[in-house]
Amino acid sequence: MATEHVDVLIVGAGLSGIGAAAHLRRDRPGTSLAILEARTALGGTWDLFRYPGVRSDSDMFTLGYWFRPWTAAKAVADGPSIRDYVADTARQYGIDSAIRFQHRALRAQWSSQQARWTVTAQRTDTGETVDFTCSFLWACSGYYRYDEGYSPVFAGAEDFGGPIVHPQHWPAGLDYAGRRVVVIGSGATAVTLVPAMAATAAHVTMLQRSPSYVTAIPSRDPIADLLRRRLPQRAAYPLVRWKNVLLTSAMYQLSRRRPEFMKSLLRKAAIKQLPAGFDVDTHFAPAYDPWDQRLCLVPDGDLFKAITAGRASIVTGQIERLTAAGIQLTSGEQLPADIVVTATGLNLLAIGGMTLAVDGRDIRLPETIAYKGMMLSGVPNFALTVGYTNASWTLKADLVARYVCRLLAFLDAQGYQTVTPVAPDLGDRERLAPLIDLKSGYVLRSIGLLPRQGPQAPWRLYQNYLRDVRLMRRGRLDDGVVFGHAGAGRPAGPSRPHDTAPVGAAPVGPGGGVVGAGGGAAD
Ligand SMILES: Cc1cc2nc3c(=O)[nH]c(=O)nc-3n(C[C@H](O)[C@H](O)[C@H](O)COP(=O)(O)OP(=O)(O)OC[C@H]3O[C@@H](n4cnc5c(N)ncnc54)[C@H](O)[C@@H]3O)c2cc1C
Repeated sequence: MATEHVDVLIVGAGLSGIGAAAHLRRDRPGTSLAILEARTALGGTWDLFRYPGVRSDSDMFTLGYWFRPWTAAKAVADGPSIRDYVADTARQYGIDSAIRFQHRALRAQWSSQQARWTVTAQRTDTGETVDFTCSFLWACSGYYRYDEGYSPVFAGAEDFGGPIVHPQHWPAGLDYAGRRVVVIGSGATAVTLVPAMAATAAHVTMLQRSPSYVTAIPSRDPIADLLRRRLPQRAAYPLVRWKNVLLTSAMYQLSRRRPEFMKSLLRKAAIKQLPAGFDVDTHFAPAYDPWDQRLCLVPDGDLFKAITAGRASIVTGQIERLTAAGIQLTSGEQLPADIVVTATGLNLLAIGGMTLAVDGRDIRLPETIAYKGMMLSGVPNFALTVGYTNASWTLKADLVARYVCRLLAFLDAQGYQTVTPVAPDLGDRERLAPLIDLKSGYVLRSIGLLPRQGPQAPWRLYQNYLRDVRLMRRGRLDDGVVFGHAGAGRPAGPSRPHDTAPVGAAPVGPGGGVVGAGGGAAD
């Protein structure tokens, strides 16, 4: 079979991949594209997770795409509604037919001679491998492994009499009505599951080793409701989006600058919603500062309500072992359980597990430095979408998509075929901060596998939408990159593997190619 060639090959048909393709359709209608998707359905996270109550914890006015208003009543949406929103977007922009389902991208090899990538995918139905070629490769593959959630090994697991379920692999039809459930974990998934299961379970215990910050948000946004009644969707949506951006970034900044003040606010808010005498300092007061790890948001305080109603409780302690009847803690306490849910997290995975090679040289991700949080030093014509960890993922995904469209237009306008980030010399790369700089367990477990970030822009990721809007939508396109043509050989650089320039040096284009002409020309 002839190898299919497209201008842009996207890996992943989740929120980011469909958004990326929609941006290309909107801004660059002549650009050919295809999407490789390992699964049989689109939607990524919002199709994979099927546990009770699965929902967003950010508001949909910022988790939705900037170009497609979120019109449903609830600001915090359930998983199926988000999946439908992604699927409707794909339909609206005619992207469905561009998706190659059951194609897992395994390896991508760049040829400077041809200025193109060859991407080898494996069909998940037949096992056969298929090659695609593209001029620009865009990883929209999320940030975690799909085949396996993170599950620590618990002593005695084989003795436990009931099912042990991981939320990433929820068995269809699991009947928990009238059963005693223990949910192990304290993150976003645990705080979602506990009130949802408590509606019909006999009792749900959230068993956590250490607490998280948990705070209530309204599931409906009264200001959004008001604006949507008075204004057309097209006008109301950006207003609400900006209101939420400003509100969440103010909360984040306050948390970072005045952590003690924020801790006391969160504590007081929790006390208000919990029964008198509840031990807030044991169960809701982490040792870390707010936003060292993601804050857990609970719509309309549903977790607090389930605890107040006596349908759910929280135990903070260490597991000694599982027993036939439940869980034994190191404190000696026994937690009776019919079902154990291990909401213990994800296994991080960068660029969907794909390996990259540039002109025959394998790229090790921890030796690369992320450029503007969306390209990698030394890797030509490649982008990756990684959303914010302190705000809605899509805010960043949209910025990356608009930037890629600007960059492609710039290449066309200037007659270039390649663009490669060239990092300054930052010393030992593995000592630099990782691209995802959270202290959450799932990040710390996989830190050695991630691309790095440098000390300042364009190599530093600020997790700051307002700053990124300036950098990505209006900022220069030519800082820290070299442009070139096919056949020019790979970008020149000093001792470090072909992606480093001395600090302050003007990058030199391959084969003497001109560098740095007219940033922002395509905006
Ligand atoms: C339970 C849960 C709740 C969340 N809630 C929020 C929230 O409220 N707000 C927020 O901002 N973020 C949230 N997130 C983060 C969430 O993942 C993002 O919001 C967003 O869905 C990511 O979209 P994505 O398309 O980048 O990645 P994904 O949704 O992970 O989709 C990636 C797609 O790429 C495919 N893929 C991966 N590797 C390959 C490969 N090698 N070849 C082919 N296909 C591949 C996958 O099959 C998948 O379809 C949540 C995450 C989880 C797990």
